[in-house]
Amino acid sequence: MLEKLQSLLKTSINFPSPPAIAQQIIALAEDPDSDIVRIAATISKDPGLTAKVLRVANSPLYSKRRRSSNLRQALVVLGLNAATTLALGFSLVGKFRSVKGKGIDYTRFWRKSILSASAARAFAEQQGVGDVEGVYLGALLQDIGMLATDRVLPDFYASLPRKHTHAEICAYERERIGIDHAGLGAWLLEQWRLPESVCRSVDWSHGPPADARHTPDGIAAGCIALGGECVEMLLEQSLDSLETIAQHAEAWLGIDGDRLTVAIERIVHEIPETERLYETALLPAELAVAVLDQAREILLIRNLQAIEQVTTLRAATEDLEARAIALEDLHRRDPLTGLYNRGHLDRVLAEEFAASQHGGWPLSVVFIDLDRFKQVNDSYGHPAGDEVLIGTAQRIRSVARATDCVARYGGEEFVVVLPGLHASDAEAVCRRLLVRLRNTRYELRDATVTVTASIGLATLDDQHPFDDVASLVDAADRAVYAAKKAGRDRIVNFAARTTVSAAAGEPGPVARQASV
Ligand code: GH3
Ligand code: MG
Ligand code: MG
Repeated sequence: MLEKLQSLLKTSINFPSPPAIAQQIIALAEDPDSDIVRIAATISKDPGLTAKVLRVANSPLYSKRRRSSNLRQALVVLGLNAATTLALGFSLVGKFRSVKGKGIDYTRFWRKSILSASAARAFAEQQGVGDVEGVYLGALLQDIGMLATDRVLPDFYASLPRKHTHAEICAYERERIGIDHAGLGAWLLEQWRLPESVCRSVDWSHGPPADARHTPDGIAAGCIALGGECVEMLLEQSLDSLETIAQHAEAWLGIDGDRLTVAIERIVHEIPETERLYETALLPAELAVAVLDQAREILLIRNLQAIEQVTTLRAATEDLEARAIALEDLHRRDPLTGLYNRGHLDRVLAEEFAASQHGGWPLSVVFIDLDRFKQVNDSYGHPAGDEVLIGTAQRIRSVARATDCVARYGGEEFVVVLPGLHASDAEAVCRRLLVRLRNTRYELRDATVTVTASIGLATLDDQHPFDDVASLVDAADRAVYAAKKAGRDRIVNFAARTTVSAAAGEPGPVARQASV
């Protein structure tokens, strides 16, 4: 069926070939040597066409300030490429508007084609397309396949239902001839040797293929397809297709409701000027404006909904993330003091131990054990002991840096991990801890108490390479034991086997410790 149709189109006198002038313009467009003089000479052979090109050049659509009084000036104003493309469009439309068949509504056909060309240009300019006139020409000729089919197969469209959508026409064509009018039109324009990009944009005039959407041809086709859909909506006076149009705008050209509204506004406002240019009634302004007003409102609401959805979704995600973080943090914390728990401490120690070995920096571990804490419980009760533990945790935190890992090792034992700190710096931290804890007065229900601490320090460095993290922690633990043995309320550095004494209120000198 398709071959028959194509051979009919090639040979049929029923379907005319492009007018001679259009053929000459096509040849000139292909010729790299063609210049403004030759193109002007060709166009000026047709007075009707010359008048149209002049009118376009002086039309507000091209918003040029200088008026062109002759064709040569008009060609300069429009630019050679745009002018030839427009002239080609006009000459083709001029000839084919006289073609008549009986299966399609020819008045509506040309309204759609001419308005679609103007609509496609609005999108093409919004998208910053280079060859806007090429898009204009493609849109103008996008349905020419229907014209051709109706002309050589007069009964073809007769069995279409009276009320039909553009998509239904395409389905009908594909079912009977294996191709829709876009494909057939592209083939026909190839026969006429129109520029390849124009042929391709007609082929894709119902929407660019997914893999070509970001290519120049895909964007050009997107402008034509979207322009066509907007014009169908205006001509049908129905907003049923608006949601689909908005989705296509997003998918094909990446434009949102706001920019779609701007484009539709422009299409509607340009209708009177386009009518003047083609000397034909296309669509009464008040009808177009009525559709525009409704479309604007629907798109505005749609946009607000989209914003709201995004905001709600983002808030929900953030909330979920925050909860996950809080949950994970809870999992790492000791419930009584809020310090890190033993499990987290073990992970941090393992990581920091490996990092120190790898990076060659020191790692100090401070072990803190409260002195005679059992007596606090025994004298004032377990809840009072809890209060002291909570207070102790706060004091240790306040001495450590925010990034240091402070953990409750168990019972009344705490550990501070000090990555990168040499023994001497760690000793200074220990002194501050010792003095801070010693000087803290806990206001309990029945009494005011103070609790001192014994502190053990072990440092992994070049001189003291511990085999593993357990040995390092064990060393700090043994240093605490030594501090207890030496009389409590003091610091022992495992490495130096020394007691780092700190007199009340002021850190004191380092004293020798006999054994650890
Ligand atoms: P030393 O100076 O030798 O360390 O004496 P100490 O009494 O501090 O040491 P010991 O290990 O004998 O006692 C630790 C006490 O800590 C025993 C236990 O009741 C108390 N303890 C452990 N965990 C908690 C807790 O969560 N809350 C309270 N209130 N007490 C606790
Ligand atoms: Mg203990
Ligand atoms: Mg203790």
